[in-house]
Amino acid sequence: MTLKSRTMNIAGDKQDEHHSKRSLSDDVYETLISQLVSLELPPGSRLTVDTLARNFGVSQTPVRAALIRLQTEGLIAGKHNAGFWVAPIPTEKYFGETYLVRELLEPEAAALAAENARAEDVRKLRHLCDEMENLVDEDTRKNYGRFAILDDAFHATIIEISDNEIMRHILEGLHAHMHLFRLRYHASVAEDAIDEHKEIVHGIQDRDAAAARAAMRAHIIASRDRMMPFYHEIAIANGAAAN
Ligand SMILES: [Zn+2]
Repeated sequence: MTLKSRTMNIAGDKQDEHHSKRSLSDDVYETLISQLVSLELPPGSRLTVDTLARNFGVSQTPVRAALIRLQTEGLIAGKHNAGFWVAPIPTEKYFGETYLVRELLEPEAAALAAENARAEDVRKLRHLCDEMENLVDEDTRKNYGRFAILDDAFHATIIEISDNEIMRHILEGLHAHMHLFRLRYHASVAEDAIDEHKEIVHGIQDRDAAAARAAMRAHIIASRDRMMPFYHEIAIANGAAAN
């Protein structure tokens, strides 16, 4: 990816107020996510505000904001004075626990969403599905990060519609998607996920709580079965703690 041209697009978008409400730091964040989930920035890489700001052609403020956000999500470690570095891939135990918590809670979130969803909620979910489908059609490296962000947004939207604050708090704290996508992004992984997402949306749209619950459960189990085999591969490659 050429950061310069991407940054110029970012700057161009910013000047067009009708174009988007996204901030410059959202764009820096998204570019960094792409580099993190594609392992273009491998675990342990040093990141400095200075260098990133220079590479992106932006001031330090949006870079700092993006780094703080990534730190909250556990993707990078460090602090401003001491510098930042890319966090190691979490342990296999972490992934197993994350999937278990998701398998317990997210089907219930989907069932509640089926009961609560308004027409605009369903439209938003459909729109996210469409965007993900478009990304898979043009399977490029720079889409890795975008897909992770959209998948995260899809699940976060369902949790929001479910309108259970405690559940939202627990699930948001996992930041599951970003970590998962560092394990593996592959077009076939994405394609399967898209079909499963559509099943979930159908259940919600039909106000069929049982169907939405079953579809979400199936998606999370399938995602675990798709992703976990990649864990060992990446753990060996990056020297992450194997347990
Ligand atoms: Zn998903």
